[in-house]
Amino acid sequence: MSRHIIIGNGVAGVTAAQSIVRADPAAEVLIFGAEPQPYYQRPRLWEFIAGQIETGALYFRPPEWYAARGIQVHLGAQVAALDTAEHSLMLADGNSASYDRLLLATGARPFVPPFAGADKAGVFVLRTLDDAQAIRKRAQDSSTAAVIGGGLLGLETARALRTAGLEVTVIEFAPHLLPRQLDAEGAQVLQSLLQAQGMRILTGAVIEAILGDERATGVRLRDGALVDGELVLISAGIRSRLELAREAGLEVNRGVVVDEHLRTGATDIYAAGDATEFEGVIYGIIPAAIQQAQVAAANMVTDGSATYNGTVPATTLKIAGIDLTSLGEATATADEFVVLRDADPASGLYRRLTLRDGKIIGAILLGDRRNVQSLKQLISAGRDVSAHSDRLLDQSFDLRALAQDLS
Ligand SMILES: Cc1cc2nc3c(=O)[nH]c(=O)nc-3n(C[C@H](O)[C@H](O)[C@H](O)COP(=O)(O)OP(=O)(O)OC[C@H]3O[C@@H](n4cnc5c(N)ncnc54)[C@H](O)[C@@H]3O)c2cc1C
Repeated sequence: MSRHIIIGNGVAGVTAAQSIVRADPAAEVLIFGAEPQPYYQRPRLWEFIAGQIETGALYFRPPEWYAARGIQVHLGAQVAALDTAEHSLMLADGNSASYDRLLLATGARPFVPPFAGADKAGVFVLRTLDDAQAIRKRAQDSSTAAVIGGGLLGLETARALRTAGLEVTVIEFAPHLLPRQLDAEGAQVLQSLLQAQGMRILTGAVIEAILGDERATGVRLRDGALVDGELVLISAGIRSRLELAREAGLEVNRGVVVDEHLRTGATDIYAAGDATEFEGVIYGIIPAAIQQAQVAAANMVTDGSATYNGTVPATTLKIAGIDLTSLGEATATADEFVVLRDADPASGLYRRLTLRDGKIIGAILLGDRRNVQSLKQLISAGRDVSAHSDRLLDQSFDLRALAQDLS
């Protein structure tokens, strides 16, 4: 009987545990997770901050679910060191455990740029339930919030704080919102929609300092402008958690480097999720964490049995009333790309397709939910659509039929 140890109780760790016991019901599986709470869904933290749900609704499965499958979950269990030669690990509490196969699913933590004043009370990042609880508590006695970073996480959190009744300003360094998912034209349409929901948005804005004595009161921008914020949220991207891997001598770059079997350089050690770098990419999204965890798990049970080929990035904004999806190389521009656009800012509609060699490689869909699945399929399949390229964005063109043709 093989003993599989998983470090990290996030979506990658939990998915891998489930896949391992499914493939090998006799396997012994242990999860060590540093957070004290059972697995919860990070995207639901926004509803929690908005005051729409309580913590109970965040938990996905009861502890019995794991026990019934022979998965031993150790919570509040921080792994402090790995001994790759001995196939063992040491916990922060001094206990140790040995493994036949190990999965590093240590995820990521928020990146905090070195802003002056970032250490004041009232300045937060959002990754964990503990973070969300602290944010919600502070929101209850604040009337203004400054959200630094206009990416997906920043916007969703801004919206949650707005729902909780705060006046919210989003401050984005780039010239437009969602710089990774949207081009300038699409971002302008989105910005208008968000402003209509009562959010204030500043783009091309550089933070000079977070103001206040011990408690934050706001933010000063380089151009001298002052933004009120009794609550300041910094949402400036993530950094993979690499310390265990690095100290154990595994190859790390920005993430733990893995091959197409999700193997690290060390014998019997695999990695998946936000901690992982595959072909130079750290995806930082749940679909990639799930796919990687499934492939890693298959290979932990039978090495070489599954291959990972990358994930088509797909992100959706969940803000009420706004349907925005960004797929693949959504914002790519270069001479060899053909870009098709369809914009109607007045009705909040913006659609863009990027094609290379007659194939759709990326899409932005704002105000159009109907075609999301079809475009995902067309991008994944790499189907040549050049015969239709002048009509792809016509309202009457049936993308679904084109995608179904694939099967
Ligand atoms: C508020 C929020 C909303 C999000 N919404 C979306 C969304 O809608 N769609 C989407 O695709 N992505 C979303 N994401 C991103 C998504 O949550 C991550 O891509 C995903 O959580 C990655 O999973 P993971 O298991 O690799 O890492 P994590 O979820 O970070 O889990 C890693 C776990 O490992 C633990 N750990 C780390 N080091 C150790 C150690 N040494 N010992 C023991 N345990 C350790 C950590 O405590 C953590 O619990 C969101 C993120 C946040 C913060």
